[in-house]
Amino acid sequence: MTISCQLNEARRLEALNKLNLLDTPPSDAFDRITRMAARLFDLPIAAVSLTDADRQWFKSRVGVEHTSIPRLHAPCGEVADSSRVLVIPDMLDDALFRDSPLAASGIRYYAGAPLTTIDGHCLGAMCVLGTEPRETTQAELDILSDLAAMVMAQIEMQHALGRVDPLSGLPNRNQFIEDFQDMQRERPAGEQRLAVLINLATPDQISHAARALNPSFLDELVIDSAAWIRAETGPRRKVYHVAAMQFALLSEPGMSLERYVPILEEKLEVGVSISKMRFVTTPSIGVTPFDVGTADGLNILRQAQSAAHDAIDSPTHVAVYSAVEDRAYRRRFNLLNDFAAALIGRDQLRLVYQPRIDIASGACVGAEALLRWTHPTLGAIGPGEFIPIIERSGLAQATTEWVLNRALRQQQAWRKAGLELQLSLNVSASNLMEPDLADRVVAGLEQYGLPPECLELEITESAIMEQPLKANAMLEALAGTGVHLAIDDFGTGYSSLSYLQRMPANVVKIDQSFILGLEDDHRQQGLVRTMITMSQDLGHRVVAEGVERGDVLAFLRSAGCDEAQGYLFARPLEVEAFAAWCRDSSAWDDAVAASIPRREARALCSLARPNASLAASRRRHQSR
Ligand code: C2E
Ligand code: MG
Ligand code: MG
Repeated sequence: MTISCQLNEARRLEALNKLNLLDTPPSDAFDRITRMAARLFDLPIAAVSLTDADRQWFKSRVGVEHTSIPRLHAPCGEVADSSRVLVIPDMLDDALFRDSPLAASGIRYYAGAPLTTIDGHCLGAMCVLGTEPRETTQAELDILSDLAAMVMAQIEMQHALGRVDPLSGLPNRNQFIEDFQDMQRERPAGEQRLAVLINLATPDQISHAARALNPSFLDELVIDSAAWIRAETGPRRKVYHVAAMQFALLSEPGMSLERYVPILEEKLEVGVSISKMRFVTTPSIGVTPFDVGTADGLNILRQAQSAAHDAIDSPTHVAVYSAVEDRAYRRRFNLLNDFAAALIGRDQLRLVYQPRIDIASGACVGAEALLRWTHPTLGAIGPGEFIPIIERSGLAQATTEWVLNRALRQQQAWRKAGLELQLSLNVSASNLMEPDLADRVVAGLEQYGLPPECLELEITESAIMEQPLKANAMLEALAGTGVHLAIDDFGTGYSSLSYLQRMPANVVKIDQSFILGLEDDHRQQGLVRTMITMSQDLGHRVVAEGVERGDVLAFLRSAGCDEAQGYLFARPLEVEAFAAWCRDSSAWDDAVAASIPRREARALCSLARPNASLAASRRRHQSR
């Protein structure tokens, strides 16, 4: 076999394999044609015979027992090689087939028409066989060729079924992947190409439209957009309908990103300006460059989708794939996925506790429970990273449930040990939308036999402002149970004073961004002073977050702030370290003493913990 013959044979086999026909069960659609062939020729044997590498496999057969025969010396193999009709009136007279196994089994007559794909690959033959020598008329040969064409139409139709989107009539994602692989084989390795993904609307817009309008609106959007994209790209470029609201195409070879992006921007702008749906949808385009030969079709689609998603927020609504954004997105996605496992696992999540100090007395009066996550492979992940991801997902409820349960258990243990502190937990915005939050909190308190006032829930100002009416109703319900409420990160949101006045909160926690750097910023000091007075006038107790320095603490004292929390006293501590910290007052006395005047430090330390009950508990422990 010459090299070009070998290459043709390899392509032919590839075309055959792609159709996924070999070794599939019999099908009536083919059997009907085979039966018709046998009847029209008045012969006992007929078959749809596919030529595999070393066998003839029968997709359909009449009068044949075997499902396949060796390819060598099989006339159908000859048809596949030549792509021509083959008639053998008498095998015993034919030099090539006289000694073939078919002839040995008593077959004398053969006629086969090639089964040829649209791209010209011959898959095998539609054949009829007889046990007597026979002549063949031209009309019979025409019939055999027609039957072969019917078989091929059936094959192509079955193959196309899973490859064309019924709504747009465009090839679908499967076809994109297949064509992408072909392109990679055919085009020079290393050639730079661009994949383009057109997204018709944001997920929110799709769900709003589906809810507000009848479903034909979205169908119409797809059909109109498909027609527009086809018209813009011209008949020679293939456009794929890769997801319900997404189309993809590949740029022409030689097109650069610099040239293509402005073209896409202009086309999109024109397209949007004439679209009937322009007020309710935001189409966007993502572009991703790739190197022919090493790219993976599915991954290229994913990258283009990621760029199209980023493009929604870009001014032109066209964006180029960014590996950095993509990595960040994937990290967020994976973290969310992995956090679900962490919640049911035993050893990934834990709470740490940061003390809260009453400034006037110096006593530790409470602790804030803060969540920590040790990822099995990524190590420690900060709540600043994972909490915002979780808060936007359905896991917020389970997370708060986990924290509530752990914190109450810890609170019970501390109380049993004589340590009477108020414990604060952070609650997410979406928790306030859970109708049974207050009931669950009460149930938790009952389970651990704790009074409601030993628990404080911290809710950020912005969480409340997301849905003020609903949030307020839940805050009222929570306040009604007797647990305390704190407005966390105060000053960073947009709550109005009138709102603050009506809120059933006990505590306002001034955000650390106002406290850090306070020591030498007089304007900020003025602001913090006002925040303290105003909050207290409205009946709230004021806590300063992020107190790292003695002079800041001194300022807060002079401004009348009630409590402080920050690294000056302690970082968030593990359970055991927290207990030890409570026992060992010198840890923070030293910190305070080092940063404020000696007289003030002494006064502060003498006022400081151990608070009465803590001292009592310590004495009890020591005496044991
Ligand atoms: P947050 O509720 O405002 O908690 C205070 C944050 O400030 C904590 O960060 C704490 O470690 C940090 N911090 C305390 N003192 C100082 C200081 O002196 N200087 C500085 N620079 N930082 C200080 P963390 O633990 O990383 O938590 C960050 C945020 O994550 C929290 O802010 C809270 O919004 C959220 N978070 C933490 N745990 C939970 C939780 O269990 N549930 C919910 N929903 N959110 C949580
Ligand atoms: Mg907090
Ligand atoms: Mg805060």
